[in-house]
Amino acid sequence: MDLHGVRCVRRPARADEITSWEPGCAWLAGGTWLFSEPQVNTHTLIDLETLRWPSLQVSADGLEIAATCKVAALDQLTDRAPADWTAAPLFRHCCRAFLASFKIWHEATIGGNIVMALPAGPMISLTASLEGVCTLWPRGGEPRSVRVVDFVTGDHRNVLAPGELLRSIHLPAHALRKQFAFRRFTLTHLGRSEVLLIGTRCPEHGKFLLTITAATLRPVQLSFATLPAAAELKRAITDAVPPTLYLDDTHGSPEHRAHLTYYFAEQIRNELAATP
Ligand SMILES: Cc1cc2nc3c(=O)[nH]c(=O)nc-3n(C[C@H](O)[C@H](O)[C@H](O)COP(=O)(O)OP(=O)(O)OC[C@H]3O[C@@H](n4cnc5c(N)ncnc54)[C@H](O)[C@@H]3O)c2cc1C
Repeated sequence: MDLHGVRCVRRPARADEITSWEPGCAWLAGGTWLFSEPQVNTHTLIDLETLRWPSLQVSADGLEIAATCKVAALDQLTDRAPADWTAAPLFRHCCRAFLASFKIWHEATIGGNIVMALPAGPMISLTASLEGVCTLWPRGGEPRSVRVVDFVTGDHRNVLAPGELLRSIHLPAHALRKQFAFRRFTLTHLGRSEVLLIGTRCPEHGKFLLTITAATLRPVQLSFATLPAAAELKRAITDAVPPTLYLDDTHGSPEHRAHLTYYFAEQIRNELAATP
């Protein structure tokens, strides 16, 4: 879509070239959302591609994902991830959990998806479940770190201040070495996620994390020292997710989302209990 209100496109070599910010400025990542609907209040786009951040950096500490990394690049990392990253198949599960074709995957960025803060943002599901931490670059301030699970505060809402840039997301190595179980439901084949749950369990200490996304307005993460009993897990979900936190839209009613959340959580608990 042509954005008729845009009068200026900037292509900085460094983010600190952007010293001022005013309403109407927008960072441009893959553009798959920005160019998909009218942006009547946007007059300046600041292209992130010219910053040329390395997309994916694998190290002993884990994985550093540049905000500008394309979804397709993360999908491909599944096949060449370090052998002890047992959770690496989650990259592919989540990269293919968009309501979108390969054309979107090749342009959309991980950062753009997280910043959009849509309940069905699969890069939020992935990075929250793998204990991701965002590095944020405010305009004119010191960088700060925020856990992905805290970054998204509601449907299309996040913690970014005006002009603040999501620079990268770090996934710690210990999270990448966890066992996992993945469940997702869509009303239509290849449709938008109605519910997306990911459970992880530490193979050494047994710590269990359940990350609830798509069903809820923001990610909800439940943490247990060991795998809980069925009743304990059910109670924890009830306490953490009041009925008003379930999303209500054309892709699913709050009642159906709640039903599937309990149903999949119990499946995940059973699957991880049976994983050696
Ligand atoms: C057909 C179709 C299907 C889609 N399906 C889904 C879906 O299933 N789930 C879903 O969540 N989304 C979906 N989307 C929306 C969108 O394409 C994705 O969320 C995508 O990941 C956005 O990434 P992008 O790089 O294209 O972001 P852009 O469109 O470039 O930017 C999105 C927003 O984030 C801001 N932004 C981008 N990067 C940064 C950054 N590093 N720091 C600060 N701000 C930044 C931009 O200013 C803009 O406001 C779909 C879109 C289309 C057209």
